[in-house]
Amino acid sequence: MPSNDEQVNQLRWKKLPVLDDGFVCLVDVMGDDQSVVQAARVSYGEGTSRVSDDRNLIRYLMRHRHTTPFEMAEIKLYVRVPMDCWRQWIRHRTANVNEYSTRYSIAIDAAQRTPPDGWRTQSTTNRQGSEGHLPVEIGRRLSDEEAAFQEEARAVYERRLEQGVAREQARKDLPLSTYTEAYWKVDLHNLLHFLALRMDSHAQWEIRQYATTIGQQIVQPLFPLVWQAFVDYRLEGMFLSRLDQGVIARLMRRLAAEGRSQATEDDFLAVQDESWVDLRRCRERDECRAKLVALGILSAPKDEPPPTT
Ligand SMILES: Cc1cc2nc3c(=O)[nH]c(=O)nc-3n(C[C@H](O)[C@H](O)[C@H](O)COP(=O)(O)OP(=O)(O)OC[C@H]3O[C@@H](n4cnc5c(N)ncnc54)[C@H](O)[C@@H]3O)c2cc1C
Repeated sequence: MPSNDEQVNQLRWKKLPVLDDGFVCLVDVMGDDQSVVQAARVSYGEGTSRVSDDRNLIRYLMRHRHTTPFEMAEIKLYVRVPMDCWRQWIRHRTANVNEYSTRYSIAIDAAQRTPPDGWRTQSTTNRQGSEGHLPVEIGRRLSDEEAAFQEEARAVYERRLEQGVAREQARKDLPLSTYTEAYWKVDLHNLLHFLALRMDSHAQWEIRQYATTIGQQIVQPLFPLVWQAFVDYRLEGMFLSRLDQGVIARLMRRLAAEGRSQATEDDFLAVQDESWVDLRRCRERDECRAKLVALGILSAPKDEPPPTT
């Protein structure tokens, strides 16, 4: 396996492609798994090195959300991102940012385009989300319209510049699909927070592509122990609320009493939390149901769950 220095040298300034014309590249990194361990041992003392190896210590820190040792490592990236995606990205306030200025320079002549098979339909269950895709025949027309629209918007922008309009004003009608570039520096703790939110299935598909690239192609090789702990306890971990635990306990008692191994939707509704019973739609109940299905305790509903009232 290459050393950490070799990994950094292989990755530095390498443009990892994302979407049709975006990228992420590592500019610099400070620290590795050892920096986290070293910082934690200031708190826990040398004695712990005898009882817990580095892997266990990192996993303990991640499990118990002892977060400050993860702040001791930092990553600086250079990214090229469509502006709509960047608008979501920039909400993560705990990073340092320098972005390409379209007041100072001419806007980057590239806009993200959606291929004919990439147009997603509005989710019926999540107002913020999408599910499924439009047929390609429709998608082809939408992609053609998009290309024509982006070309026209660019032409309008360039005509304004030619006529002497200031760059800061000429840009106002450029589409949100226009790419921007930025340096983004963040410590490992806040980067993991960003990845947990933006690799999640609730995040928009486009930003998920960036987060997944950063996670799998940069954080994983540079911080292998931290990455594994992050995957195990956060990315693929499952949070069980007090209410979820109550449902599981009642469900397991019911199944044991009747000698069954898997619960049905009727079982689930019978043991749901009392605060959900009168609600026709309840996201918390839906999320609890999804956890039980993922754990194999509850059989997957065939269709939409039936309303309870
Ligand atoms: C799926 C999804 C949907 C979203 N939908 C919307 C939406 O509809 N509308 C919308 O406006 N935003 C939306 N957001 C953005 C979201 O609310 C957060 O602004 C964004 O995810 C950044 O998260 P953060 O504040 O935890 O991260 P950071 O800004 O990086 O902060 C990290 C942590 O530092 C602490 N922190 C940072 N700054 C402060 C502060 N000033 N005061 C106190 N604590 C602070 C907090 O603990 C915070 O969690 C959405 C995000 C996701 C992932």
